[in-house]
Amino acid sequence: MLEQLRSIVQKVNAAKDLRSALDIIVHRVREALDAQVCSVYLLDKDINSHVLMASDGLNQEAIGHVSLEVGEGLIGLVAKHAEPVNLQDASLHPSYLYLKETGEENFHAFLGVPIIHHRSVLGVLVVQHEDRRRFDEEEEAFLITLSAQLAGVIAHAEATGAIAGVSPSGHKTSDTVFTGVSGSPGVAIGHAVVVFPLADLSQIPDRPAKDIDKEIKFFNECLNAVREDMRELHRRLAGHVAEEERQLFDVYVRMLDDDALGNEVVQRIKTGNWAQGALAYVANEHVRNFEEMNDQYLRERAVDIKDLCSRVLFYLQDKDPVVTEYRDDTILVSEELTPAMLVEVPKDKLKGLVSVKGSGNSHVAILARTMGIPTVMGSVDLPYNQLDGKELIVDGYKGEVISNPSDQVRKRYLNTIKEQDLLIADLEVLKDLPCETADHHRVHLWVNTGLMSDVMHSLDQGAEGIGLFRTEVPFLLRERFPSEQEQMAIYREQLQAFAPKIVTMRTLDVGGDKSLSYFPIKEENPFLGWRGIRVTLDHPEIFMAQIRSMLRASIGLENLQIMLPMVSNINEVNSSMQLIKKAHHELIQEGLDVRFPPIGVMIELPAAVYQARALAKLVDFISVGSNDLTQYLLAVDRNNPRVAHLYSAFHPAVLHALYQVVSSVQEEGKPISICGEMAGDPGGAVLLIAMGFDILSMNAATLLKVKSVIRSVSLEAAQDLLDQVMQMDDAQMIRSAVDMALYNAGVDRLLRSSRTN
Ligand code: PEP
Ligand code: MG
Repeated sequence: MLEQLRSIVQKVNAAKDLRSALDIIVHRVREALDAQVCSVYLLDKDINSHVLMASDGLNQEAIGHVSLEVGEGLIGLVAKHAEPVNLQDASLHPSYLYLKETGEENFHAFLGVPIIHHRSVLGVLVVQHEDRRRFDEEEEAFLITLSAQLAGVIAHAEATGAIAGVSPSGHKTSDTVFTGVSGSPGVAIGHAVVVFPLADLSQIPDRPAKDIDKEIKFFNECLNAVREDMRELHRRLAGHVAEEERQLFDVYVRMLDDDALGNEVVQRIKTGNWAQGALAYVANEHVRNFEEMNDQYLRERAVDIKDLCSRVLFYLQDKDPVVTEYRDDTILVSEELTPAMLVEVPKDKLKGLVSVKGSGNSHVAILARTMGIPTVMGSVDLPYNQLDGKELIVDGYKGEVISNPSDQVRKRYLNTIKEQDLLIADLEVLKDLPCETADHHRVHLWVNTGLMSDVMHSLDQGAEGIGLFRTEVPFLLRERFPSEQEQMAIYREQLQAFAPKIVTMRTLDVGGDKSLSYFPIKEENPFLGWRGIRVTLDHPEIFMAQIRSMLRASIGLENLQIMLPMVSNINEVNSSMQLIKKAHHELIQEGLDVRFPPIGVMIELPAAVYQARALAKLVDFISVGSNDLTQYLLAVDRNNPRVAHLYSAFHPAVLHALYQVVSSVQEEGKPISICGEMAGDPGGAVLLIAMGFDILSMNAATLLKVKSVIRSVSLEAAQDLLDQVMQMDDAQMIRSAVDMALYNAGVDRLLRSSRTN
């Protein structure tokens, strides 16, 4: 059974579109279960019905024509309860609805299982039989397993159709919504520019060829170059490897021949696709076909195809480097957006961001929030490589991407954009006003930075200090470690721009989802592995260079403080202190007049929550990193869209941990700040000030929003709200209670919904 399952799933995976995928399913499942009928009904939301999309056994004329309204018939029953229905004689069931066009009157046994993708029912998979007998348990389990595995493929095929403007049953469709999670609030309307890492065949998007003949000629040149490389390798290996292995290169050259792979790519270019897209399409098809072969030797040939086609891709990209043309209304789309991709787009052209991977707390989303660009993350069903040039709406409030927008929906979103712009303009007046509650409790709003451009923007917004300078950001954008001199220049810029206001520099926090191309860290569990202070303590030369640069950069400005990330025990703090003292001592010895800066520790791990007091004793200040603290307390990977709905800083466990940290640190009489994203969430900020946080540090784009909300509540009301939510035991209830309190305080809708978690 397992082998049959695997083979059906692979065949369906290799199908070119929804129709062929469904045809394969019905034929192969009918055979596997020795049934007389197998059919698939899919929900077409546009007509609110389940449409018979494919069948082996029912009248073929009925396909695409027969449909049942939602809730109707046995199909409606399976879909409604999202559970299998297994009947000896379907016609005796009260929900049975006879559909004469299908010719199903002869079939009695009925087994229908729901096709569920991400908690929503896409349709129903049915098998039927003439005999009056129940399908047995094993058959039922087989169908359920298969349906679970096929749901993703069907969803993908449906999504591809929707991008082209067609519903599952072939109707014209618009306003297709792809859900993800909010990465950065706001709404943007624009056209997709799909970006992709070089040399990765699986991520090349489709694009129109500008000149088909030229494209074919260029492709053939690159193909010849690879052929020549192969011949050369063949010659060079003579006498070094067994003749049998050497023959492999001949096979490669033949695979590239005009009547083999090469020809298929040319045919695809002739349909109008650019060479890279055509090559990727053909390569991926062949790889899939090979991978599904039963014979292991042949299965492994998929690797050869990948290798060969990657070599051709290398020439295509090398001889004609991809120059991405950013449109004036760019919605940047990628399978996995990286900070480097973002900063390449001219700022005035970048309107929105969409990433298939990652979630609202991925570092790229944090960067997007800092830049104030509406962003949707983790839109896992989005067929991103079909999107280049297509109009999209990015709803960064709800975490949704809408393709083929209708005039009506576009108009609605244009209104939200207007509302948004008005709100931002209104907030401007708050820039120079103090951040204090209605009953005059003063709160300090600082900013998180990474790039120099953040600094300028932050000063513009009236920031009172930098609570977190993510020093890894300039490291991420380089091709090697910056030298001490280069680092000093970067740090000096930040310190100088903000002086005399305080700048908190965090020591290098790489690992997890932040890896440096020139210092790759490959681990099974990167978030539980070599990250932050663990890396830099193991590499004191990197740590020392960074501390020396920071100290030197601060000479004469005296507004630096240094903060340590990912601390899990006091030894890490003691060892770091020793190195910082050593760096300081060295500089003094070198004759420089360097002041020893205040040192702080980030509370990001549950272990640190319970050691907050001991840690506070050792340092000058404590700052909570609520992003990681939430991730580690709830065991929810901040980067994984599948569990993004479980990630919430409003979870009672997180709130209790935060409260506990505040009291431990206050007992030591040390200042306590927070620099995780929760501080930039207006509702979150209200709870944090009630807990007693002295400083809230956030991305500049949210600063005025938070200020506006804090100014509209009293500390007393905030404390009442905190007392109330600390009694609650559910994150959603807490979120709703906070939203309700803001609503009652007259806070604008767009401010309340700035983040969803
Ligand atoms: C945090 O974890 O809350 C934090 C501020 O650090 P980062 O998001 O860079 O991991
Ligand atoms: Mg962190």
